[in-house]
Amino acid sequence: MSDRSAVGVDVGGTKIAALRMTVEGSVAASTVIATPASDQDAALPAIEAAIASVIDDDVVAIGIGMAGLVDARTGVLLTTPNLVWRNLPLEERLHAAFSLPVSVDNDATAAAWAERSLGASRDYDDSLFVGVGTGIGGGLVMGGRIVRGAHGLAGEIGHVIVEPDGPQCGCGNRGCWEQVASGLAIARAGARTVIDDPGSAIGRLAGGDPRRVSGEIVSQAARGGDVAATALLAEVGRRLGEGVAGLVNVIDPEIVVIGGGASEAGELLLAPLRTAFVGSLEGADVRPEVPIVAAALGNDAGAIGAGLLALGSEAG
Ligand SMILES: [Zn+2]
Repeated sequence: MSDRSAVGVDVGGTKIAALRMTVEGSVAASTVIATPASDQDAALPAIEAAIASVIDDDVVAIGIGMAGLVDARTGVLLTTPNLVWRNLPLEERLHAAFSLPVSVDNDATAAAWAERSLGASRDYDDSLFVGVGTGIGGGLVMGGRIVRGAHGLAGEIGHVIVEPDGPQCGCGNRGCWEQVASGLAIARAGARTVIDDPGSAIGRLAGGDPRRVSGEIVSQAARGGDVAATALLAEVGRRLGEGVAGLVNVIDPEIVVIGGGASEAGELLLAPLRTAFVGSLEGADVRPEVPIVAAALGNDAGAIGAGLLALGSEAG
């Protein structure tokens, strides 16, 4: 019956979300600020400001979910495809700033743990979380434990190369899965639609400016019944489903949870995803069904998971 709370922080490519919460996942305060994506010196002050705006005397630990390659043993952000930040000693610096224990994990790993603890995969010991936002992040829970790999770097599913001559990726390679099957891919294809036909539904919603096309605008057009937007989401859903089938071939989870901002397109994305998944899976007709479901905690999953991990829920 303690009021022990944590601050959970989700540091993404566009925003930093921080919240104060209990181990039951009850959220008492939250804030969102812009990520200084192109300024390494501003990174820690921004994260500290987000924490400071929600922290209180009941907070006993701070958890960070970071979009990028994080060494969870040392709490150092090594690199990240969508920010300029490199070799950032998050754990050491935030511990010095707040005099509290600090844990640092990958954001999708944190989100996977939140869904496992309180969300869509809470009744399953073996689950794969696929976070479809700007890019694609992955989190894996097996036997009720997070799989972090030998170096704390497991789960980078977005950077499997599926098109060797495909679009340039922020990681330095070409044709990574996240370049053809994420919010980025939806926005890129939507922008092409606007260039070809500024008067299309997507074009009108974007004010005729291809640079203003986002995944949200495409989803909005599709929800309004626009055929081109629906087809575009179906194509990205297909690429997602093919990739998820490959992962299920390797991992054999009980359930796959699809989260992240792009997943808010709902069945417009999930239905074609499931069709392509079943069509691409080895031995789909002889396997037990693997449900593919939407995340239950929405965009708070990363911050909530980071908070849960800070409170030591993984050990419990
Ligand atoms: Zn990549």
